[in-house]
Amino acid sequence: MKNITILGVTGSIGQQTVDVCLHHQDEFNVVAMSAGKNIVLLETTIQKINPQVVCVIDEKDCNYLQEKYPHIRFVFGSGGLDEIATIDQVDIVLNAIVGFAGLLPTIHAIESKKDIALANKETLVVAGHIITKLVKEHGVKLLPVDSEHSAIFQSLQGNEKNKIKRILLTASGGSFRDKTREELVGVSVKEALNHPNWSMGAKITIDSATLFNKGLEVMEAKWLFDVDYDQIEVLIHPESILHSAVEFEDTSVIGQMGTPDMRLAIQYALTYPQRKKLINGKSLDLTQLGSLTFKKPDFNRFHALSLAYRAGKTGGSLPCVLNGANEMANLLFREGKIEFLQIEELVEKAMNAHELVKDPTIDQLLNIDQWARDFVLKEINETCRRL
Ligand code: NDP
Repeated sequence: MKNITILGVTGSIGQQTVDVCLHHQDEFNVVAMSAGKNIVLLETTIQKINPQVVCVIDEKDCNYLQEKYPHIRFVFGSGGLDEIATIDQVDIVLNAIVGFAGLLPTIHAIESKKDIALANKETLVVAGHIITKLVKEHGVKLLPVDSEHSAIFQSLQGNEKNKIKRILLTASGGSFRDKTREELVGVSVKEALNHPNWSMGAKITIDSATLFNKGLEVMEAKWLFDVDYDQIEVLIHPESILHSAVEFEDTSVIGQMGTPDMRLAIQYALTYPQRKKLINGKSLDLTQLGSLTFKKPDFNRFHALSLAYRAGKTGGSLPCVLNGANEMANLLFREGKIEFLQIEELVEKAMNAHELVKDPTIDQLLNIDQWARDFVLKEINETCRRL
C-alpha cells in the first residue's frame, strides 16, 4: 500500500489521479490533498476519498471546512501546503498544482525524502538546476506525469546504460495547429480553449495553443533526461498517439503509443515499475487509425517554441522569466484583456528586458518570477494609457 499526497486535487490531473486511486484502493491510500479555491469540487472529493489532512488557499475556507468535517484536519496557505507535502507516513507526493506555485511544495517534499510524481512542469522549467541536485542528494525518485515525458521514461526502461542520441518530443499542435500566423489575429478565448485531443486545465490548454506548453516540455525533458537542447526534437503529430520516443546510438527508435488518456501516465508514475490494469482504458486500434502523421514545427509560426529554446539554452534565470511572464500573459488573455498573439510578444519583451542571473537561488527565483509578472502588467497598463 502506497500513501499518497495529491497536490492540486481539484484540477484536471488531480481528479484523474483520484479516479486512478479509487480504481486501485488496495494499492493507494490518499492521506492528504490540496485544492485552491474550488471548494465545491473539493467537498465532493473529500466525500469520495476521506483523507486525513486537507489544504486550501484561504483561511476562511479552511475554517468553514473544519467546522463541517471535524474528523479531518484542515490547513491553509503555503504553510499548509508544506505540511501536507512532508507528512511522515506519505511515500509519494503527486504534484498537480498549476504554475510556479508548485515549486516550493516540490522542494519541501524532496527534502522530506518523498518520491515525486510530477505533473507540475513549471517546477523543472524554473528550477531544474536546483531540483535535480536535491533529488540526487536525498535519493528520491522523480517520476514524470506529463504524457510525453512518461512516454520517454517508459522508452528508457531497460536502457538506462545506453546513451540517448535524440528525444522525439511529440506535440498535437494545439487548438490552432492548422491556422497561419495571419489567421491567429483576433482568435477568441473560447476557440483557444477548444483542444482537439485532450481535456485539460485552462492554463495548459492556452499554452498548448501558443506552443509555450511544448516549450516548457522541452526544458522539462532537458532536466529529466539530462540531454542537451540540440538532442530534443519537437515533432507535430496531430493524432497524439505516439506520445514521444527516444532514438539510441544504434539508430533504434523506441517510443510509447496509446490512446490519449492521462490516467495511464498518472498511474504509471504511481505504480512504477509495475504496470496495472487501466480501468476503462481504451485499447489502441491501429488499423482503424490507418496512418499517423508527423511534421517539423515552423519556428516562425510557433514563435513561442523559439523563445523556449532560447530561454533553455541561455539557462540561469531566463526560463523563470519566460515562465512568469507567460503565466501572467496567459491569464490576461483568458480574462479577455489581451490578444492571443500578445502572449508571446509580452514574454519576449520580458526576456529582452531581464538582466540574467547565472545560477539563481530559490529566493532569487521567487523575486524574478514576481518581476516577470509585474513587467507584463506594467507593459499592458502603459499600452492602455497610450491608447
Ligand atoms: P488545473 O487548472 O485543472 O488544476 C490546477 C490545480 O492547482 C487545481 O487544484 C487548483 O485549485 C490548484 N491551484 C491553482 N493555483 C494554486 C495556488 N496558487 N496554490 C495552490 N493550488 C493552486 O490544471 P491541470 O490539472 O490541467 O494541470 C496541473 C499541472 O499539470 C500543470 O502544471 C500542467 O502543466 C500539468 N499537466 C497537465 C496535464 C493535463 O492533462 N491537464 C497534462 C500534463 C501536465 P482550484 O481549482 O481549487 O482553485
